Amino acid sequence: MPQRIGLFGGTFDPPHVGHLVTAVNVRHALRLDLVVLMVANVPWQKVGSRAVTPAEDRLAMVQAAVGDVDGLVAGRTEIDRGGASYTADTLAALAEAYPGADLFTIVGDDAAAGLLSWERYEEVAARSGLVVVDRPGAPVVLPGGFDWIRVEVPRLEVSSTDLRARCADGRPLDYLVTEPVLDVIVERGLYSGVSA
Ligand code: ATP
Ligand code: MG
Repeated sequence: MPQRIGLFGGTFDPPHVGHLVTAVNVRHALRLDLVVLMVANVPWQKVGSRAVTPAEDRLAMVQAAVGDVDGLVAGRTEIDRGGASYTADTLAALAEAYPGADLFTIVGDDAAAGLLSWERYEEVAARSGLVVVDRPGAPVVLPGGFDWIRVEVPRLEVSSTDLRARCADGRPLDYLVTEPVLDVIVERGLYSGVSA
């Protein structure tokens, strides 16, 4: 039974090396048994601003990304629950599935900056340690009043937004996503414009 579990939630549209390097290094730094890359069903803060790839396709990409890497798994709890995805609910589900485990919520600093906009963020802070990693770019002011756990990971200037833009104008994704992820993208015809 895993005792220390990291919840790394995201839209993962698509998952990239920035996500993977973060997951592996936070796992190592905090001696986590498991990091769950949890695929948001409906990323409610992104809805309306752009078309989000269907959740099952994003899950297939995250499964391909984690492959058989030790201690990383793709999570489908939020997809199975349906509706808008709230981290507070997911932490409650993890606490039930793994009684007594220490839970950690892992976020990049851009996501950390928005913590106060999350549904029931007090519950997130009460149920889990808040772990933040820096992304390239201007430093972010973290919301005060929380015991942020900072973990240094290599800062990779990669984002799903940039990857989608690359697809749109035919630039390569090689080395920015893992090969198995690229295979899923090509097989499923995601981000029309990617060629093998
Ligand atoms: P988008 O550009 O579509 O927002 P993204 O690259 O930010 O995509 P998300 O799925 O939004 O990816 O992010 C999920 C989590 O991963 C967030 O906590 C985010 O801060 C973090 N994250 C994303 N990219 C990186 C990166 N390069 N390094 C560290 N953390 C990252
Ligand atoms: Mg993002």
